[in-house]
Amino acid sequence: MRRIDVLSLYTNDMSFYGDMGNVLVISKRLAFYGFEPVVHFYNPGDSFPDHVDMVLGGGGQDSGQKNIFGDLQKRSEKLRALASSGVPMLMICGMYQLFGRYFLTNSGKKIPGISVFDIYTEATSDRLIGNLVEESDRFGRLVGYENHSGQTYFSTPLQPLGKVVSGAGNNLKDGVDGAIVNNAIGTYLHGPVLSKNPKLADFLIEKAQLNRYGEARLPSPSPLLGRIDELAAKANEAASRRPR
Ligand code: GLN
Repeated sequence: MRRIDVLSLYTNDMSFYGDMGNVLVISKRLAFYGFEPVVHFYNPGDSFPDHVDMVLGGGGQDSGQKNIFGDLQKRSEKLRALASSGVPMLMICGMYQLFGRYFLTNSGKKIPGISVFDIYTEATSDRLIGNLVEESDRFGRLVGYENHSGQTYFSTPLQPLGKVVSGAGNNLKDGVDGAIVNNAIGTYLHGPVLSKNPKLADFLIEKAQLNRYGEARLPSPSPLLGRIDELAAKANEAASRRPR
């Protein structure tokens, strides 16, 4: 089977809102497409994998971000190079924030990021919590939930992931969520987001396949995936009707 190497960043500190589920969804989905998923769980002090086809990062409390930012800074050049070379990435909330310039916490601590996304995040006393629904030009309706004090702004014009339909997203002003730069996606959608939004998962797999094997189209998946995606569509529909 053709192998796809997935780097899962800082799951010991940064998977506080179920985002580890994205790793599980991607692993299963890769197998349904006939790939051999190899997941590298990376935490501070671990050796960095020799080959990376996809990078996933989840959300975490301010304390978790303080625990990992030093190590993230040490890996910033490598991660920026991977992002510039088109490696698909999905960064959720806390890791989205640290893939920007900085996150200024409520207690005034400025946690530096690695600037994959030209964004900055500043916490306010409002905590933005609740179901989040958005419309994406590339992926259609996306659903999940958000839970963050940080409000994120673009330092330069960027493509957002989606236009907020219900909820907050990046902040209380711009009406959008997330950012897309090359094949790197940041978002405030917890869930895990990939379980109810299969188009997003397929995007990550397509780009990983293209980069490593030079093929754009995904192979026909196991018939079971069609059934799973029917259920995901129902879950997406139900979630889109949930009150904030
Ligand atoms: N600690 C950050 C904040 O509160 C990120 C939270 C998260 O990852 N859900 O904004």
